[in-house]
Amino acid sequence: MSPDHASALASILGDESRVLTHPQVVERLSRDFYWYSPVLRKQLDGKVGDLVVQPLSTREIQDVLRYCRTEGVPVTARGAGTGNYGQAVPLQGGVVLDLARMDRIESIEPDGVAVCQPGVRLGALETEARRCGWELRCYPSTIVKASVGGFLGGGSGGIGSVAHGALRDFNTVRALEVVTMEVEPRVVFHDGEAVHDILHAWGTNGVISRIWLALAPAVEWSQCVVAFHAFAAAFDFSERIATGASWTKRLVTTFEWPIPSFFTPVKQYAPQGRSLIFFLIASEQLSMLEGAAREAGGEVTYSSAYGGLRTLPLLSDYTWNHTTLWALKTDPAYTYLQCGFDPGQARDQMKQLRERFGHEILFHMEFMKNGTGQVFPGAIPLVYYTTEERLNDMISFCREIGVFVANPHVNNVEGGGRYRADNVQLLAKTRYDPKGLLNPGKMITFRAQEVAAATGTTR
Ligand code: FAD
Repeated sequence: MSPDHASALASILGDESRVLTHPQVVERLSRDFYWYSPVLRKQLDGKVGDLVVQPLSTREIQDVLRYCRTEGVPVTARGAGTGNYGQAVPLQGGVVLDLARMDRIESIEPDGVAVCQPGVRLGALETEARRCGWELRCYPSTIVKASVGGFLGGGSGGIGSVAHGALRDFNTVRALEVVTMEVEPRVVFHDGEAVHDILHAWGTNGVISRIWLALAPAVEWSQCVVAFHAFAAAFDFSERIATGASWTKRLVTTFEWPIPSFFTPVKQYAPQGRSLIFFLIASEQLSMLEGAAREAGGEVTYSSAYGGLRTLPLLSDYTWNHTTLWALKTDPAYTYLQCGFDPGQARDQMKQLRERFGHEILFHMEFMKNGTGQVFPGAIPLVYYTTEERLNDMISFCREIGVFVANPHVNNVEGGGRYRADNVQLLAKTRYDPKGLLNPGKMITFRAQEVAAATGTTR
């Protein structure tokens, strides 16, 4: 990419300090956590943008996109770069559009809707929401670092999903504004069903510039760890609490041994050989939960009030995809899958997986609610990686026995398992990015020439 682009973009912003060209900085801001996958590591190592631009406003996003569209320069949006599938890694160089400085929380509305810019960190939004009597409905375990825009662009759910479903469910994303990559970039408002045109599209069909996110009334939470001798008993108890409508919970995570042995900072709560459950439970139900756990044969190894994201230990730091991080610290051969077990068949499905793959797969369950209100055993099992063939064999076997897999070892929206069958994300791309300059290569069903031929477009 010509150095002229850097100076042109600096003069468009009127601030050269927000156009970053130092190779180490550009490299750092071109990466995410794709290296969790040995498959993606091979594909994405060494892929970098040419420069980084840091807009401060929607108007500046429009100005940058207008220039890049005219010059045919690819643009990859970036929040905090904590995605796991190389979503934010530019495949064809160009501009990395770093939205971290668009970090203003505009308001927490009286009806519990947060209005904010995309670069707001989820942790900051949670803190501000709680100050006003609300809290996030669901958040990834990367809450402290991850941005709201990046969560909408590349995330799915997490802590809170056991009660409120994932990001796509229950109208949690009320509305968003998106900047298009047309000759004259527009700011388009999407609400209701139309938010799904843009959600989880990895920034391939527009740059989200403003967000309306529904919150939940704040609850006083407590953390609790329960240990069981057998994984089956831990699973039964966690399922009972997760599916029991009378329990107010934000997190129900179950690990089989030896996963808890990877959690070095909280080893004292993980007796040798036991399966563990990590709970975030309403404080008013804590003693009832402890009693129920003991009756079911469990030992409560830790419980205490939860005082927010600075609480130590912070149990959520070991759940969702943080579990994989702790495993990788112990042995770099670990990787993971993202699964949904059938609530009625989960025990049998796990048995079949154990019989076929032994301890190459370790069960880490994350209970969550689906869009119809049913709580089911989601899972981010650890996988001891040997070869790509073996990994694919495991994925195929999961699907054969009815376990849903959102494959985290592919670098395109369609292959990841969260692509919308109604194609709305692709349709939005043909409207908003007809030249295919936004995060190119990540929406593989998009064909720029076909769009041009069909529409004769100069948009
Ligand atoms: P980025 O990685 O910067 O971006 C993600 C995608 O969104 C990219 O494709 C990017 O181009 C696009 N994007 C960013 N900003 C915009 C914008 N303004 N407009 C359009 N597109 C945009 N995810 C979960 O869902 N749940 C979890 O529990 C979870 N746990 C994790 C644990 C660990 C240890 C790690 C490393 C990752 C985990 N993730 C999880 C993945 C990731 O942290 C989250 O999805 C997070 O919300 C991504 O936010 P980000 O700001 O880092 O996004």
